[in-house]
Amino acid sequence: MDINKLIKPNIRSLRAYQAEEIPCRIKLDANESPYSAISGQLSALSRENLQALNRYPDPHATSLRYLMAKALKVKPQNILHGNGSDELIYNLIMAFGGPVLYPVPTFSMYGVISQALGERKIEVPLDNQFDLDTDAFMKTIKTRDPKLIFLSSPNNPTGNCFSEDRILKIIRQSKGLVVVDEAYQQFSDKRSFIPLIKKYENLVVLRTLSKIGLAGLRLGFMISGPEIVNEVNKVRLPFNVNSLSQKVAEAALQDKRQMRSDIRLVISERKRLFKEMVKLDGVKPYPSDANFIFFKVDNGDSIHSGLIRKGVLIRNMKGAADGGLRVTVGAPAENAAFLKALKQIL
Ligand code: PMP
Repeated sequence: MDINKLIKPNIRSLRAYQAEEIPCRIKLDANESPYSAISGQLSALSRENLQALNRYPDPHATSLRYLMAKALKVKPQNILHGNGSDELIYNLIMAFGGPVLYPVPTFSMYGVISQALGERKIEVPLDNQFDLDTDAFMKTIKTRDPKLIFLSSPNNPTGNCFSEDRILKIIRQSKGLVVVDEAYQQFSDKRSFIPLIKKYENLVVLRTLSKIGLAGLRLGFMISGPEIVNEVNKVRLPFNVNSLSQKVAEAALQDKRQMRSDIRLVISERKRLFKEMVKLDGVKPYPSDANFIFFKVDNGDSIHSGLIRKGVLIRNMKGAADGGLRVTVGAPAENAAFLKALKQIL
């Protein structure tokens, strides 16, 4: 049997998502939180919850969506739950199709999923400030009429938020949906786009619990007008979020104090790490609104592998942003170990 002849051409030419599995003492490659938001929530996993595992989970995640709606000041019918926000990206592209437009460099899954689903993708480079090139976007919107536009703001991997007025211009101009992916919004002092879903019916916002201490639960949320929620809900698999994740997230959302103080700690560590990195000769860090810092060095590959040899794993973005590296902000001791190793290598 020749698998190559059986597989669809768009899948054959696809590269699987590269999540680095190199075991390292210090893991600063995946934009996770160094703090688990779960410590006070273990009681949520009572015997009752565990015994109920013979039943399927609530397909609508009713309580969880209610709590999330309260936290985000929207209605439960404005929210759809995903097994991670990347599942919602998948569902959106499945439901609406392409062309799918996004700036580059950005989160790789917009392109990977478009290709996996056989949809056309259009990539427009960011300007030299890593902001949206509105002229290029306007031209592309006019000539190609994309069904979906993905804007990660703060942007992964560059770390900055895009200018609000440029995002608004794109939302107003586009006849398709504009998805503002706010995976890192809580680390930024810029405004969220969630309140604007009432004003712009083509606006969709994505949020995730992955960056704020619950990556292992796999929980993401789509926030939009109820009509879009209803359509995307048709392609969502019925029991996509398991019962344990629903229960633990509900408990975590009922008491958000720990999460909030962990976010504040990460922000203050980001500021400290940035100040230290600026002082290093040959290192150019870029200001960040997220829980990671994008930086450029002369020889990214050798710095990346040198850090691995010293037990520190960061992300090499060479494919997406030439010579760029991305370090997640960790706990103070992890950031200190990263800085020490980086200085030694330089
Ligand atoms: N959007 C962006 C911009 C991301 O960086 C990530 C994670 N790397 C995701 C979405 C997906 O997050 P999750 O599936 O864990 O919710």
